[in-house]
Amino acid sequence: MLIFMEKIHLDDYTIHIGDAGETLHEFLQERRYSKVFLLADQHTVLHCLPKLKFNEELPKLDLIVIPAGEIHKTISTCELIWAHLLKNGADRKAVLINLGGGVIGDMGGFCARTYKRGIDFVQIPTTLLSQVDASIGGKLGIDFASVKNSIGVFCNPQAVLVDPSFLQTLSPAERRSGFAEIIKHGLIADAHQWEHIRTQQNLENVADWKSFIVPSLHIKKNVVEADPFEKGLRKALNFGHTIGHAIEGHALDTDRPLLHGEAVAIGMVCEAFLSAKKTGLSERELRILTDFLLGMYDAYELEEKNFAHYLELMGNDKKNEGDQINFATIGPIGVAHINQTASRDEIIDSLRFYNDLLKSMSPTAH
Ligand code: NAD
Repeated sequence: MLIFMEKIHLDDYTIHIGDAGETLHEFLQERRYSKVFLLADQHTVLHCLPKLKFNEELPKLDLIVIPAGEIHKTISTCELIWAHLLKNGADRKAVLINLGGGVIGDMGGFCARTYKRGIDFVQIPTTLLSQVDASIGGKLGIDFASVKNSIGVFCNPQAVLVDPSFLQTLSPAERRSGFAEIIKHGLIADAHQWEHIRTQQNLENVADWKSFIVPSLHIKKNVVEADPFEKGLRKALNFGHTIGHAIEGHALDTDRPLLHGEAVAIGMVCEAFLSAKKTGLSERELRILTDFLLGMYDAYELEEKNFAHYLELMGNDKKNEGDQINFATIGPIGVAHINQTASRDEIIDSLRFYNDLLKSMSPTAH
């Protein structure tokens, strides 16, 4: 079978979009590593590893399997990974293949970058979020002392292999969560792509995932190459995230935790409201994009009693400088503005704006 492989070249590595097994086999044959280690979690070892079709022709694979989930993105899991590498003779010519979502990619990359001052690693992202976001841009790391991604480094992999067929086993909620980053990419940088995105109200019947993934990767590539260390333009990727992170952080300790993308979708509604106030997002665009987001993501009422905590969490965001709360806004759709700030009252208005939209959609509203 002829499989169409698409490639996106970055300064020092390539993203291959297509059959990951086939590309990995070619890559390993070319590179001739001393040993091949593969990091997976309890789900990706079952659902994704078989698709790589490892057989006798390939170098023997040394498997490291860890439990799934953000709670395991810790220094103690890194210790297990480093110990496995040491015990099983990984020298500096070994490679670590990270097969999983953003947790595996961030932590596996971090372990590879720090083991013996750095061994090669390959990212094979298996969630939508990691395929369009976490696996490129070079940010690696772990959570520490309950602070997300507080320990880490910037380092690029030797290759990224994006295979949309992995999405078949992903839960609908995880797919929707990853789609929020695709929406964000269109909103901040590509009005044409946004027009394509907004035709897709339902993710159950996506015929061509590549048509969402490839343009999204191009947008992220352009932004991270222009600003690899997040000094300026890269902050545009933060659209929806200042408020989204605070809502996600708060929800974590409640009986209704939110996936990252679900929180970012709410954050994008609120920050679109701020965009209309500050950077010329038109009322029409605001209505179209909020209708779309509220149609795709479940309603989640933001209770007034939690507003103070949201604001406190926004104040702690590591992207702030000094005591200003930093936002990225849009206006018109496809154009981002960085280093925008908003007052406490304006932020509260944006949270209420989201709640009012929910009320206006509810069947009892009149
Ligand atoms: P995740 O890695 O926890 O994966 C979500 C769940 O899906 C896990 O249970 C996993 O086992 C399962 N899974 C993965 N692939 C599957 C598949 N194909 N079929 C069935 N199940 C599958 O979560 P995520 O959303 O991919 O990533 C979140 C992480 O990414 C966070 O830690 C976040 O900080 C990080 N992140 C990093 C960057 C970056 O630039 N480095 C950007 C965004 C997010």
